[in-house]
Amino acid sequence: MQFLGGNSILYRMIRILPLVAVVSALAALDSSVTAAEAAPRKVILIAGKPSHPPLMHEFRAGSLLLQKCLADFPGIAVDVHDNGWVRDEAVFDDAAAVIIYADGGGGHPALQGDHLKTLQRLIARGVGFGCMHYGVEVPSGEGGDAFRKWIGGYYEHQYSCNPIWDASMEKYPEHPVARGVKPFRISDEWYFNIRFAGDISGNEAATVDGLKFTPIFVSSPSDDVRGGPYVYPKGPYDHIVANQGRAETMMWTVERPDGGRGFGFTGGHFHVNWGNDDFRKAVLNALVWVAKAEVPKGGVVSAVAEPQLYENLDPKGPLPKEVKEKIDGWKKGEEGAPGAGLSPRPSKFEQLVRARSRNQG
Ligand SMILES: [Zn+2]
Repeated sequence: MQFLGGNSILYRMIRILPLVAVVSALAALDSSVTAAEAAPRKVILIAGKPSHPPLMHEFRAGSLLLQKCLADFPGIAVDVHDNGWVRDEAVFDDAAAVIIYADGGGGHPALQGDHLKTLQRLIARGVGFGCMHYGVEVPSGEGGDAFRKWIGGYYEHQYSCNPIWDASMEKYPEHPVARGVKPFRISDEWYFNIRFAGDISGNEAATVDGLKFTPIFVSSPSDDVRGGPYVYPKGPYDHIVANQGRAETMMWTVERPDGGRGFGFTGGHFHVNWGNDDFRKAVLNALVWVAKAEVPKGGVVSAVAEPQLYENLDPKGPLPKEVKEKIDGWKKGEEGAPGAGLSPRPSKFEQLVRARSRNQG
């Protein structure tokens, strides 16, 4: 044993110690400077209360998955709050953006108690605001007027519609939220005919009263989709049918006249859709952009293995049999380690979920 011999580990450690000390001191200095210059921008993700059957409207699980995808992203810190609001509004003090992924309508988290006033104060300060899936629906009037200013539009009951359909995203604008997102096609409860600011169709870029509007996801629903049934109410509505052939917008961004940012995203009904890289990338880019952080050239890079889609689900009754068997199989290691050699999306299971959801809104 030569503890201090020429080649022993201890000997080498002692030799390089002074250098390590200098490098550490410099690193500490450097990190204190950068920390002061750029504290992470805080994105508050508010997940709604549990609703719908398992694997639909999984607001909490979806939010936690998005948080995980941004865990190592520089300059962003995602804070997830469940059950429809934050427990202590002091968390808003240093927020760069607030996102609501929840059931909306009259029960929308933004409309309970003084929440609209709280949001108004944040928005006046330049805080970004985004809403996802049912979270884009608020009643007309105070809520609708606020949403048209803050995110450029809202789902209006019996004006907008909510069929389940395959939207094909084929091209994107030059916009940070679209960075690195490739063309893709996916089934979701893609709401459309949103009540946009200035009653624009929303399928092309526009500026309305100083609000700069950019559509990100645009696709043309078929005549069959327009003809219904919609999830609720079943429709069809004459004004939706009359617009046959028109392209519709399912994700958009706004830059408000005060410089604050907003976005709306109407998908997010099926939890397994978060397993689609392009679907997920656009939303991750939006979370970064709405907080005024820089979206990298190729967009936010993340990976989600299939087993991760079944983590953190709300306790809403038993999972479909096929999913349960699959998860049990992973637990037993019959199909190898979680994530190894698994398909990105469970196609048979998806069909099952979709068939169920047709009757359940
Ligand atoms: Zn839904």
